[in-house]
Amino acid sequence: MELLHKARELSIYTAYNTNVDAIVFLKGETVQKLIDEFGATAVRRRMEEYPREINEPIDFVARLVHALKTGKPMAVPLVNEELHEWFDSHFKYDVERMGGQAGIIANLLANLDFRRVIVYTPHLAKKQARMFVDKPNLFYPVVEDRKLTFKHPREAYREGDPIKVNRIFEFRAGTTFKLGSETITVPFSGRFIVSARFESIKIHTKSELRPFLPEIGSKVDGAILSGYQGIKLRYSDGKDANYYLKKAKEDIILLKRKKDVKVHLEFASIQNRELRKKVIYNLFPLVDSVGMDESEIAHILNALGYSKLSDRIFTYNRIEDTVLGGKILIDEMNLEILQIHTIYYIMYVTHADNPLSEEELMQSLELATTLAATRASLGDIKSPEDFKVGLKVPYNERGEYVKLRFEEAKRKLRTREYKVVIIPTRLVKDPVSTVGLGDTISAGAFTSYLALLKEKGEL
Ligand code: AMP
Repeated sequence: MELLHKARELSIYTAYNTNVDAIVFLKGETVQKLIDEFGATAVRRRMEEYPREINEPIDFVARLVHALKTGKPMAVPLVNEELHEWFDSHFKYDVERMGGQAGIIANLLANLDFRRVIVYTPHLAKKQARMFVDKPNLFYPVVEDRKLTFKHPREAYREGDPIKVNRIFEFRAGTTFKLGSETITVPFSGRFIVSARFESIKIHTKSELRPFLPEIGSKVDGAILSGYQGIKLRYSDGKDANYYLKKAKEDIILLKRKKDVKVHLEFASIQNRELRKKVIYNLFPLVDSVGMDESEIAHILNALGYSKLSDRIFTYNRIEDTVLGGKILIDEMNLEILQIHTIYYIMYVTHADNPLSEEELMQSLELATTLAATRASLGDIKSPEDFKVGLKVPYNERGEYVKLRFEEAKRKLRTREYKVVIIPTRLVKDPVSTVGLGDTISAGAFTSYLALLKEKGEL
């Protein structure tokens, strides 16, 4: 709790990705209506074709019915922007909430009463703006009369901005409906996600704001950047991923121009190997800190050419392989700190000259897992007081085993040139929600790391 108080003294900038998560708790009769609208024969035919993207409503119905029949969680990209209206006229959303890493992190830090949270997302439609919490410490940068000012995001929206809505259809085991003469009963609970992938959603800083990035950097103690997974390889106007990555690189350099502000990059899985590689090679060398989960480090190692090590991490989840992978990554990319979270433990890897002691690094990870446990217990973190809920969550039952394996790994591998620390996670048995837990861990870890650096006069 004490470290949280210290972290709350900080000001943080976060960009780029936000979206609206619109959640529907599906009922059998809703599915029945959809099938009746298009006709069972047509739906069945489209199911056999198994569309990979949603271009028209029947693609959605076919993939949804398929997901319900198997009970498997799935996500299918929606590529036709015109279908927004169709969805909105067919469904009433039970819950609409902030999605996207930058949005989730901004709301989290604002609710924790951080000194100042500046959030930037290139698209800010009214509906998106309303998803931000109503806190006086939350700001959106606005350029007026060629000067930088700040407004609450709810006041800064722009009519006509595109909006990314991810529609999440939660389904329960036992739901039934008929597909023609066939009666379908959903075998498992899960969710079907229609994720919006439109060209109009870009990951960049708009040109009017870019000249002010040095000023923004000078006003904050740290920056958390995420959303690069949303970059596309090619755009219809001829621009490509190289163009946007060049801009992303410049953004980081600009943020650091006036003051060498620490930058954390939160890595999310990128399916396309070519893009994944580009993000790693272009951006990792420019940032100070990177956070990711275990499957992401395996993907990254694969992209860097360490395919055997990557396969081992995927297959065995051994701590020693993750430590080895972490060492490779901080060396090759010259990172100051790397944070890897898994379901059972969280790890930091730094070089030996890191100003923080191993105990301090562990304190930072403790804060991170406690915050995640709070969010998993409550669904959302509304105030710093909520943190107490997380403190009551016990460490997972493999905690002792994790520590043992870690000590073993340290003996086996040369770790003298590094600081590697690990803590077991506090794991909530029946979480209200698991969305945003990784982002919560990374925001908690990075900000408490900064707070400890600051205390030592190293920031
Ligand atoms: P990500 O894969 O980036 O979304 O991160 C998920 C992380 O959240 C995991 O690595 C765990 O550390 C944490 N986590 C997942 N489930 C729970 C839970 N039930 N209680 C607390 N933490 C959790």
